[in-house]
Amino acid sequence: MPGTVLLASNNAKKLAELRRVAEAAGIEGLTVLGLSDVAPYPEPVEDGASFEDNALIKARAAVAATGLPALADDSGLAVDALNGMPGVLSARWSGGQGDAANNELLLAQLADVPADRRGAAFVSVCALVLPGGGQTLARGEWRGRIVARPSGANGFGYDPLFVPDDALAQGRTSAELSPAEKDSLSHRGKALAQLVPALAALTRS
Ligand code: IMP
Repeated sequence: MPGTVLLASNNAKKLAELRRVAEAAGIEGLTVLGLSDVAPYPEPVEDGASFEDNALIKARAAVAATGLPALADDSGLAVDALNGMPGVLSARWSGGQGDAANNELLLAQLADVPADRRGAAFVSVCALVLPGGGQTLARGEWRGRIVARPSGANGFGYDPLFVPDDALAQGRTSAELSPAEKDSLSHRGKALAQLVPALAALTRS
């Protein structure tokens, strides 16, 4: 279907961010669908070794099941003091017990790490895969640091622990930013911005 892209995410909050950023790009004639708009299909196992691998696994599964162009994001938090972990394991860092448990575990792991060594980056890799087999990958990174106590109720995942380096954040965590502020700075916003030309091309195919 020309002019249509399926956002292949089962994470409702991440899906909302992807949809906001894709729609804010103002691509005329682009219909943005979510997984609730298509017939259900089995979730693929995300067993890739990198964000790139996992983004492609998710986007390719969506294309195979629906025949639509599909965009998937694989993302996570890379903490300097943990040598880049939790990385691709971010969603399941506490063994699949959810965001609050992930955050608690991360804070415990960093308990003795001083403020000047608490740097981290959110990473997002977005994959756009076409039914004909074409694919485009884009990576966005967002630097900041991990604070000692959670703060803020917006966003999801590790947002209450992450204070972006950007001056605009003024020391707030990404869970304290408005959705528009987060989109303008975030790893996902940066990755998706690079895909706008490829998304716009869908409306002309
Ligand atoms: P995925 O759905 O397999 O890509 O897992 C992404 C995981 O990385 C999420 O469950 C969060 O734990 C973390 N994550 C990715 N992006 C963000 C973000 O924007 N804010 C907070 N946590 C994030």
